[in-house]
Amino acid sequence: MAAIIPDNPSSSQPAAAARQDADFVELTTPLVESQIDSGDSGDPIALQFRVDPREALEVPGFDADPVGDLAANAVPGVLHKYRGRALLVLTGACAVHCRYCFRRHFPYGDQRLDEQALEQALAYLAADPEMTEVILSGGDPLVLSSRRLAAVVERLAALPHLRRLRIHSRIPTVSPERIDDSLCQLLAAFPGQVVLVAHVNHPRELGAQSAEAFRRLREARVTLLNQAVLLEGVNNDTDVLTELSESLFEQGVLPYYLHQLDPVAGAAHFAVDVEVGRERIEALRARLPGYLVPRFVVEQAGEPSKTPLG
Ligand SMILES: *Cc1c(COP(=O)(O)O)cnc(C)c1O
Ligand code: SF4
Repeated sequence: MAAIIPDNPSSSQPAAAARQDADFVELTTPLVESQIDSGDSGDPIALQFRVDPREALEVPGFDADPVGDLAANAVPGVLHKYRGRALLVLTGACAVHCRYCFRRHFPYGDQRLDEQALEQALAYLAADPEMTEVILSGGDPLVLSSRRLAAVVERLAALPHLRRLRIHSRIPTVSPERIDDSLCQLLAAFPGQVVLVAHVNHPRELGAQSAEAFRRLREARVTLLNQAVLLEGVNNDTDVLTELSESLFEQGVLPYYLHQLDPVAGAAHFAVDVEVGRERIEALRARLPGYLVPRFVVEQAGEPSKTPLG
């Protein structure tokens, strides 16, 4: 498993990192580091990325596979839970390690797509006549080279029923330089619609560099959405969530989902009560145009879609 994690973890790794999920070491990018205010012990960027001793706490109800991903593993690399769309996991690697991530215990070692597994995954997707959308996920699919991505995207473009390609990625805000010409060209060449769902939790994650990355993506005719997770200490605040929606839209990105935290072991200190989440959404509704209010949802194993909470 360690082989699929980039070997450039940031320098500060407190002893707490040496806990059960040793692969989920602290990992950030230079841009994220530059956004962290080290003088602020409650910094909302630091909270998302710095290893915290509270991760070692065992809290009842916070488990290793909270969303039933292991059960939804159709063939290696494919997570098929919902009708008409499936996740294609090309890599377990990410540019950053978000400490609340529900996949922090996921056995990615089994998920690295070699040529044979990719053929098997494509055959699975091709065999389902309802499969109109494939979601490249991970890990973060944009850590792959454009050449590697192009090889997959070209194969997806040939799938008979596919109308949309979706990419879930944190790259546009943590490594915006990755949104380069080669990537934009390959996305622009896709015959169907392309949707990129970014992942931004706090307005301070947005700046001139993310604006440029999103501008390039829009130029490549990519529809831009955002998913956030409601996180204690980060964005459990009506003003912060309002500014997040406003700032995203200024960069051409529509809020899509606000997720209730998946109860994954090690992330209990980020938990926000569902009722509090509902109040936040109501407050946003009273302040913002409807299109800037994200859908508040939770993922429940076995359900046919994300479950609306708002
Ligand atoms: C979240 C998720 C999707 C996408 O759901 P949407 O509601 O379409 O955004 C698809 N497949 C899996 C396995 C998911 O977890
Ligand atoms: S980028 Fe996404 S998949 Fe990777 S650690 Fe963060 S939340 Fe998890």
